[in-house]
Amino acid sequence: MAKVRVGVNGFGTIGKRVAEAVMLQPDMELVGVVKTRPDYSAVYAVKRGIKLYTLSSSIEEFKKRGIEVAGTLEDLLNEVDVIVDATPGGVGASYKPVYEKAGVKMVFQGGEKPDIAEISFSTLCNYEQALGKKSVRVVSCNTTALLRSICTLNKLAPVKSVRATIVRRAADPKETKRGPVNAIVPNPARMPSHHGVDVQTVLPWLDIVTSAVVVPTTLMHVHTVYARLEKSVALEDVVEAFEKAPRIVLVSSELGLKSTADLVEYMRDIGRKRYDMPELAIWVESITVRGNEVMWMQAVHQESIVVPENIDAIRALMRLTSSAQETIEITDKTLGLLKGRLPG
Ligand code: NAD
Repeated sequence: MAKVRVGVNGFGTIGKRVAEAVMLQPDMELVGVVKTRPDYSAVYAVKRGIKLYTLSSSIEEFKKRGIEVAGTLEDLLNEVDVIVDATPGGVGASYKPVYEKAGVKMVFQGGEKPDIAEISFSTLCNYEQALGKKSVRVVSCNTTALLRSICTLNKLAPVKSVRATIVRRAADPKETKRGPVNAIVPNPARMPSHHGVDVQTVLPWLDIVTSAVVVPTTLMHVHTVYARLEKSVALEDVVEAFEKAPRIVLVSSELGLKSTADLVEYMRDIGRKRYDMPELAIWVESITVRGNEVMWMQAVHQESIVVPENIDAIRALMRLTSSAQETIEITDKTLGLLKGRLPG
């Protein structure tokens, strides 16, 4: 079967990771990426063998810098089946008419409003509902993380309600415009936080309320989650459910993985590019069960957690695999995702 041809618009934090993940898929071909500026990331893309496209207004600027471009966004759209929009939050909406005119399928990111696409998407929760759609929105990093653990728990026993506090990183490592930062910023005026509402775009039946606090770190987010289930469960069963789930790793503070800094260091130790950790990390010692109440703490690498879901979203749009399990097998193997316990 011919490979699905994919383009990526926006080669920033999410775009560059999704583009490189597409290159690893046996059933996909990365045709090229769109860059608006001829900066170091454009040079990197060329060195990596990725074809660069740009906006017609920027072609001259690229030429001046001696960076070769293969054409415009419209040229790229003529050559692809699916476009992954990874432009800054809210910008994707301005491109939607351009994508629609070209007749390509569309993957949007969590920074866009939910109504940009036919469905908000999380592989572990609703892969099958996205099959054959024209457009999906992969929910944000925090929402993807919450959905992975909630949908895993929901298989053990139906989840009635969730309350969670999100401790958010202030900025991504490369985002100097948001720093320097030296404060803990609660957001009382925005209670409940949008994260729970975003979870409901995928699980409309779930009673969920979240709050968020921003802290001066760039590495990862941490969530404290409290869930009420329809029946009582045993601690061992909850641990086993998380341990066996794809894209979730149980980490142990007893073995030194006590903080987001330790997780990042371990990702460096095992040679992860850009210290990416697309797996959701749940601290095994934090899992607490009282009858039908379950609590746990989880860490989220915001720059990479949505990458596997973007790959699965492409497969769902193009009906490349008919079940979540099939796409997970391919994506997780090609991206080298871990499951079970860390460190080993
Ligand atoms: P980013 O700023 O790192 O990258 C955006 C890229 O788009 C940059 O290369 C920028 O130059 C380019 N760009 C800017 N304006 C453009 C335009 N008009 N046309 C084409 N390209 C343009 O942003 P990001 O963090 O990768 O976020 C992209 C999307 O992913 C957003 O919706 C965001 O909410 C979502 N997201 C981000 C994170 C995260 O932690 N960074 C996590 C999950 C989801």
